[in-house]
Amino acid sequence: MDRVASIEQLAARQFDLLVIGGGIIGAGIAEAASAHGLDVALVERSDFAGATSSASTKLVHGGLRYLQMGDVRLVREAHQERRYLMSVVAPHLVQRLPFVFPLYRNGPHRPWVVRTGVLLYSALARARLNGRVSTKRALRLVPQLRTEGLHSSALYADAWTNDGRLTIANVRAAADRNAVVLNYAEVTAVREDGADVLVDGRTVRVAARLIVNATGPWLDRIRRLEDPDAAPSVRLSKGVHLIVDGGEGWSAAVTIPHDKVRVSFAIPWEGKLLLGTTDTLHEGEPEDGRVTDEDVQTILDEASVAVHDLGAVRASFWGLRVLPGGPGATANARRETVYTRGPSGMLSVAGGKLTTYRRIALDALEQLGIRNLDRQPRPLPGATGLARIPWPMELDAATRTHLLHLYGSLGPEVLAPALDDPSLLEPLVPGRPDLRAQALYAREHEWARTDEDVLRRRTTAWLSGLGLDSEHGSEVSTADPAARS
Ligand SMILES: Cc1cc2nc3c(=O)[nH]c(=O)nc-3n(C[C@H](O)[C@H](O)[C@H](O)COP(=O)(O)OP(=O)(O)OC[C@H]3O[C@@H](n4cnc5c(N)ncnc54)[C@H](O)[C@@H]3O)c2cc1C
Repeated sequence: MDRVASIEQLAARQFDLLVIGGGIIGAGIAEAASAHGLDVALVERSDFAGATSSASTKLVHGGLRYLQMGDVRLVREAHQERRYLMSVVAPHLVQRLPFVFPLYRNGPHRPWVVRTGVLLYSALARARLNGRVSTKRALRLVPQLRTEGLHSSALYADAWTNDGRLTIANVRAAADRNAVVLNYAEVTAVREDGADVLVDGRTVRVAARLIVNATGPWLDRIRRLEDPDAAPSVRLSKGVHLIVDGGEGWSAAVTIPHDKVRVSFAIPWEGKLLLGTTDTLHEGEPEDGRVTDEDVQTILDEASVAVHDLGAVRASFWGLRVLPGGPGATANARRETVYTRGPSGMLSVAGGKLTTYRRIALDALEQLGIRNLDRQPRPLPGATGLARIPWPMELDAATRTHLLHLYGSLGPEVLAPALDDPSLLEPLVPGRPDLRAQALYAREHEWARTDEDVLRRRTTAWLSGLGLDSEHGSEVSTADPAARS
């Protein structure tokens, strides 16, 4: 369905469910609701995954930190979701990654405490990989590991993903089941029987029986559209990441402990190193975040504790964690995801992790009274038939691996137009494996409307260090004209 048709449908249909917010939570709810036969509309005021859901640490993980906080149930659930995502839902997008946890002599943890924690974590993960590794082995996994003062290292496994593309895959799944999905479509009013959506300069009245507010950092703003007196329910915490050159030869990430609870990461990600993150209270509007010099210095200093010879900084980006439980709601403050109903019935979903998005989506449907939920994992588009992909032309191994990772078995669909126009097989930007065919596919099949949508959230072209003018979430400057499609 093209954009004009989608806007017409948005105005004409009587929906079972309107989902506000096209991050991973909103996209996951739209996927799950459409799979359960609901007629769904999903609207996003910027781009799909334009906010937090392309600004995470990209880990699909149980959360070693939660063990520290004693929440074994949460870790077990997150591990289960990780297994579902890796094996059924999106094996092309969610891949296993070992983590080295270096134990320095002057570090914050006693080695036996970490090793016990890692053993328990690995048992909950049902993983065999765990325990102590020699410095020699740790160096084989992470060639840039700092070894001065290193007592030993612990090893465990989690997984990494491309958060933006995981979100797009959920949007695609909903759209494939006839959901109306629209980015650059902002909810401006909420009523009992639907909402007003500002899209392409026109206000569309959307009729919907149920409404979910999945707007992450904007949650309270949308709650106030329904109830102007709604008290604050969330606080925000800013997390910054850096992308630096490096990561060649790394077959594991590094978990760097800073105090008894806080760790940061150095992760080999899409051919670069991803460093971070910070955790500072954010006051003011969600749009007001930015990366400061202090953030950059903190990340580099913290990474240097365990990694030497860090490469040049190519990009930085920031996102906001939603901490449920603002003033007056302390009972909920420790819970991971909080569901609240407003006076006209809108369900607001606050908090949660990318890792557990599927479970959060199912719980949201349960809260809305949807019966007989099927909680079994379903493959997202592109997730099946990965072993035998009929590529339409010869490709070098690096390109094939790249396309397989981002699109799974939809790769041939991305390349099909290149049979008529071989220039589409040329690089999208210098120094990255992305092809011009991906930019075309992004605009024609993945709702990309701007260069930034293409470079930042449909492909990995932004990692070339060519910048983007960004409204939210990244801090890089103007794109190379060659990258424009
Ligand atoms: C720094 C950081 C690191 C993280 N790392 C990890 C990690 O490694 N692993 C993990 O599992 N989790 C991680 N998380 C958590 C995870 O990223 C978030 O839980 C998840 O992305 C939240 O998704 P969301 O859909 O709720 O919010 P968002 O992605 O922010 O989506 C909300 C959307 O609502 C839209 N919106 C707002 N107002 C309107 C309106 N009026 N009309 C229509 N749309 C609107 C916004 O534009 C936005 O796109 C991290 C979070 C942060 C901040």
